[in-house]
Amino acid sequence: MRSPIPDYLDEVLDACSSDRSGHVADYIPELASADPDVHALAISTVDGSVYDVGGRDHQFTIQSICKPFVYALAIDDIGLDRVLEAVGVEPSGEAFNEMSLEGGTGRPYNPMINAGAIASHQLVRTDVWEPDPASPSEEHRTEGVRRRVARVLGGLSAFAARDLDIDYDTADDEFASAHRNMAIAHMLRNHDIITNPPAEAVRGYIDVCSALVTVGDIALMAATLANSGTNPITGARVVSPTAARQTLSVMATCGMYDGSGRWLAQIGIPAKSGVSGGIIGVLPGQVGLASFSPRLDEVGNSVQGVQMFQRLSADMGLHLMSNEQPSNTAVRWIGTVDDTTMPATDDGTVGDGGDPGDAVLPDDGAPPMGLRTKVVLQGTLRFSGAERTLRAVVDAWESAELLEQIELNLARVDSISGAGVRMIRELVRRLERDDRQVVVVDPDRLLTD
Ligand code: GLN
Repeated sequence: MRSPIPDYLDEVLDACSSDRSGHVADYIPELASADPDVHALAISTVDGSVYDVGGRDHQFTIQSICKPFVYALAIDDIGLDRVLEAVGVEPSGEAFNEMSLEGGTGRPYNPMINAGAIASHQLVRTDVWEPDPASPSEEHRTEGVRRRVARVLGGLSAFAARDLDIDYDTADDEFASAHRNMAIAHMLRNHDIITNPPAEAVRGYIDVCSALVTVGDIALMAATLANSGTNPITGARVVSPTAARQTLSVMATCGMYDGSGRWLAQIGIPAKSGVSGGIIGVLPGQVGLASFSPRLDEVGNSVQGVQMFQRLSADMGLHLMSNEQPSNTAVRWIGTVDDTTMPATDDGTVGDGGDPGDAVLPDDGAPPMGLRTKVVLQGTLRFSGAERTLRAVVDAWESAELLEQIELNLARVDSISGAGVRMIRELVRRLERDDRQVVVVDPDRLLTD
């Protein structure tokens, strides 16, 4: 049986293909000559299933979609504090290639605009990677430039789980007319935000913008950020959870140029777009999404891509600010059980009476313990689920229904966050302090590992 997911993605791609408004970017010859009707859509889950439809083999230059990844790599290379000294985290509300820098510090407002991306590119280490042998020698492609590009390309490849190549012809074309980026780099140099010659900074930045990717590549790269920096397919830790979280935060507020506020309100997914027509979106802990369609709107975002994301967000309930996962189901059941008086069931387990929805729970690892208050937890326990648990136990305590013996049963809990672990442990500590006997049934050792 074919999974319904590619069919659904095909449907979204189709439904968004009729709007031919917007224009392909024309300031780089390779982009000007792009076929405006090639389009593609992909999603990658955090456990490594990649679904891609449409022009799935079509390669395009990554352009500004490299920015969040370069930022994350820089954070791990030199530390967040030093990165923050060079690049801010405030939305600029301006176009991607605006020449403004923050008053006083001279820092670029954020890493998602060119000024910030050129600066963060300069922050990655040059001592770990040998230069890309494919890199043609040019006046401003010094050893340092080539090493920095190699470090970033290696990082991008680790995000994509395959070796990416740079389209150096596109890079050379762009560099030949990169006057605006040169002006930005001169301003950065003037404020000592970068220390190398501006032409070298721009060379390296443009080389990286010219890395070739498919829609599936960038979906997996996005999924790696969604997965706290660990590539879902290779299992390699590409960036730290801190770097991934910082990057997603900045994507949420600054990733869609001066359409960022509208995007966050409407679609609600941290995202980044690029002038070649790609958009990535990241839903932390869930999926990476990617679309490709080259015609751009007035702020530089892909027209059809924005529509595809609108559809995906609405259909799949992906808006970050809407909570479709009810947190009120963490406590499956709480009540009094006495299995010393219960008949054993056919499979030898003991019924645990009182659960109206499920009179005989399958073997959940609980030893027969006699008369007790049993608390059955389930699903994912984050702050709100753990809070529900605490509340249910405290309520039982206050209404004097909490017995001497308490069983806290986590057999149906799939995962638990750090906050959840601390809260449940504290609950146990307090109950024991108040002379209750607590048995925690935790077959997957969620509370201890
Ligand atoms: N190479 C492009 C530039 O700096 C990247 C911009 C983009 O994708 N918005 O102009």
